[in-house]
Amino acid sequence: MPFSAPAPSHLAFVPFVSVQNMMALVHTIGIETFLRELGEYLEADFKRWPEFDKTPRVAAHSAEGVIELMPTSDSSLYGFKYVNGHPKNMKEGLQTVTAFGMLADVASGYPVLLSEMTLLTALRTAATSAMAAKYLAPAHSKTMAIIGNGAQSEFQAMAFREIVGINALRLYDLDRSASEKCARNLKGQGFDITICTTSEDAVDGADIITTVTADKQCATILSDNMIGAGIHINAVGGDCPGKTELQRDILLRSSIFAEYPPQTRIEGEIQQLPENHPVTELWQVITGEAKGRSGENQITLFDSVGFAIEDFSALRYVRDKLETTGLYEKLDMLADPDDPRDLFGMLQRSRDNNNS
Ligand code: NAD
Repeated sequence: MPFSAPAPSHLAFVPFVSVQNMMALVHTIGIETFLRELGEYLEADFKRWPEFDKTPRVAAHSAEGVIELMPTSDSSLYGFKYVNGHPKNMKEGLQTVTAFGMLADVASGYPVLLSEMTLLTALRTAATSAMAAKYLAPAHSKTMAIIGNGAQSEFQAMAFREIVGINALRLYDLDRSASEKCARNLKGQGFDITICTTSEDAVDGADIITTVTADKQCATILSDNMIGAGIHINAVGGDCPGKTELQRDILLRSSIFAEYPPQTRIEGEIQQLPENHPVTELWQVITGEAKGRSGENQITLFDSVGFAIEDFSALRYVRDKLETTGLYEKLDMLADPDDPRDLFGMLQRSRDNNNS
């Protein structure tokens, strides 16, 4: 049953999902079911794409990284995510990406959910990639190369197994210990896993290539000669101006699919191409208005940067799970005087109560 928001007049608290409760939620639901159901929420929201307010995210760039706000809304809910991207963090023992987000009731403007989103971003990014691959990758894809075996990598693997049917992984990372960590974490999940010593080796025999590296530069994780006909590329790591993963020639040979092109042209692989280079919006493939994969030799490229509607879907999913699981805390973050005009009186009474 959906977790319908209490009437604003009764909203004395905001449900808050901590990291601890997010982990408990994933374990309670089961990560496979979580990713599959999240994929269904994503797909439902992509199908009603025109109903959303959309804007490229608001980014504050610095020499070391980026801090971004990602807002969107439909007629009943408003959502935003705060997220950073700092590739140098990992070497300092910090996450490259951390996030939290909020949903609010459009009718009253009152917040109705505050949630951690570091884990949720990894889950939603993976579910979105797998949803895209469901429409774009060769039918019956079984083998995926994952280049970049950091925080996002296992989530990608799990979503692709659940939603696409991937059962063999070819892992490559500049740092072999990252690939070993990824293989260790995925042990017992039924994958046939090969750790590769070069990216060329990793893509050999893959139906799908996922690039999910972090480096604040225009890198060449994949060069043109590595890409054979018929491959699907899930390019996740290039998501900032001046931060790309693919050699430009690959883009010129590919059919390119994007979440929200005005944002992807700023942040995605296609920042390397002229503004008028043709790109298909993923939501139109999902509604059937545009073609996805249309030939055996076609190279398809999902130029993923992450868009606000995906976070909105993820928050909506989490919120709908709260009533049955109870996995949230009540956050005292709404000043709620009995007489809405008597905010000052509420402050005075709290001092008097504290003194008595
Ligand atoms: P992370 O720092 O945990 O892992 C990145 C890994 O990439 C590291 O293990 C590093 O050794 C490896 N790497 C770096 N350069 C490499 C190279 N040239 N070849 C092979 N491996 C290389 O980062 P993460 O949290 O896994 O995120 C990875 C990337 O994905 C980041 O750039 C992040 O901004 C991006 N991201 C995108 C989305 C999206 O929606 N598109 C969402 C989340 C994260």
